[in-house]
Amino acid sequence: AKEEGKGTFRVFEPAMAERMQARSRMEADLRRALGAGEFELHFQPLVDVRTGAVTAAEALVRWRHPEQGLVSPADFIPLAEETGLIAPLGAWVLHTACLQAASWPSDIKVAVNLSPVQFRDDGLPQAVADTLRATGLEAGRLELEITEGVLLDGEERTLAMLTKLRGIGVGLAMDDFGTGYSSLSYLRRFPFSKIKIDRSFVSLLPDDAESAAIVRAIITMGAGLGMATTVEGVETAEQYAFVAAERCGQVQGYHVSRPLPAAAFLGFLSGLEAA
Ligand code: C2E
Ligand code: CA
Ligand code: CA
Ligand code: CA
Repeated sequence: AKEEGKGTFRVFEPAMAERMQARSRMEADLRRALGAGEFELHFQPLVDVRTGAVTAAEALVRWRHPEQGLVSPADFIPLAEETGLIAPLGAWVLHTACLQAASWPSDIKVAVNLSPVQFRDDGLPQAVADTLRATGLEAGRLELEITEGVLLDGEERTLAMLTKLRGIGVGLAMDDFGTGYSSLSYLRRFPFSKIKIDRSFVSLLPDDAESAAIVRAIITMGAGLGMATTVEGVETAEQYAFVAAERCGQVQGYHVSRPLPAAAFLGFLSGLEAA
């Protein structure tokens, strides 16, 4: 067994070294990209199901890499988090999203994703307040999207942080709801203003009875708690009809629109007005 273990180790060692090299190359590349301004935000509309109007957009970061083209956040956010580069990147995202939104019609909000790493910085509420002041965006037009991972740092600290953020006047959305372990108790303890139902519960709608029951129950619970509910990942007319009939608040997904570059998002807004 010992020999086997050794053999296994030898086989994996080169691959591991290669991976680490690739990782440090990408870290250097990420650092360079921040300085070079290679990141951009795309905006995905959120539609109110009762009126059909766009009420908000979620800002989603992309990396316009000189050789690799448009790189998905799933491919660089984890590394940015491990290396600490998420701090300057997250600050850039927040500033840029608020600046864009300040130029939109005043009834359109912007939602910004917050990494658990950003959340660990006690200076976050001040940074959010400063960004709102610098960009001229009203606090009520900013919504911060937080996943459950953020809430593992201890209840008291989390509650203090969320309460400070709410005190500034920004909205707090619990993102990817239903994918973690403790979502339900968190909703009771923490001052969230919105629930975003994870795409994984939506993909099998409307035919899958279990998914239907879960989505229906979350929407009902949100209403009972006085929270707005957004259903994400709505890709088909059938899915849209299902969640609209269940009286969720808002819908987000490819059926309404893919995430769009800033100018195209404004075009989408005015296209809706014209229609
Ligand atoms: P998320 O916060 O759950 O964002 C929603 C993701 O679902 C986006 O992927 C969006 O493009 C995608 N999506 C929206 N509608 C549909 C649909 O109908 N069908 C399908 N299949 N997908 C849909 P994206 O832009 O690739 O972002 C992936 C994740 O990266 C985000 O998941 C979020 O966790 C993270 N992320 C994106 N931007 C930022 C950022 O600025 N900061 C941080 N910390 N994380 C970010
Ligand atoms: Ca999100
Ligand atoms: Ca989400
Ligand atoms: Ca998600």
